[in-house]
Amino acid sequence: SLPIVAIIGRPNVGKSTLVNRLAGAQDAIVYDEPGVTRDRTYSNAYWRDHEFVVVDTGGLVFDDDTEFLPLIREQASLALAEAVAAIFVVDGQAGPTPADEAIAEWLRQQPVPVLIAVNKCESPDQGLAQAAQFWELGLGEPYPVSGIHGSGTGELLDQLITHI
Ligand code: GDP
Ligand code: MG
Repeated sequence: SLPIVAIIGRPNVGKSTLVNRLAGAQDAIVYDEPGVTRDRTYSNAYWRDHEFVVVDTGGLVFDDDTEFLPLIREQASLALAEAVAAIFVVDGQAGPTPADEAIAEWLRQQPVPVLIAVNKCESPDQGLAQAAQFWELGLGEPYPVSGIHGSGTGELLDQLITHI
């Protein structure tokens, strides 16, 4: 079976847009899972000579801005348990939020490599500075990308395939 890459992040940061970009707009397969709050969407993707599956976990939502809802944490944990790597998607135009910091703290405790994709960084003037704000999450180099424009995804994927 193909290696799985989990896409993690809060709602509206552009996870689904990025998954569609990485998967080259192939049809996503949606598995319904009764009894859980969120479905996971699996899409085939490839980069250079690597073929893999990206799983869009749905947004990680919080009951206040910092506490994981238990079921959501469970869903994210299930996705990570089967993954060889995770892409943590954040919003470069919004900058780091308390929810991002809570997710990062949780991700730092997980036994999979995590790459930070700083989405919505299509501005040539601001993209690098927008991405640099996310060093503070303690997960290594933030990669500026734009799911809408496609920019930056090559660098992200080059790094990703070192883990798969
Ligand atoms: P998700 O909830 O994390 O899956 O986010 P979506 O992929 O549904 O996108 C949420 C919103 O962000 C939509 O209005 C998208 O059009 C917008 N969006 C997604 N990617 C980008 C991007 O690269 N740049 C900009 N400017 N907006 C984006
Ligand atoms: Mg989505």
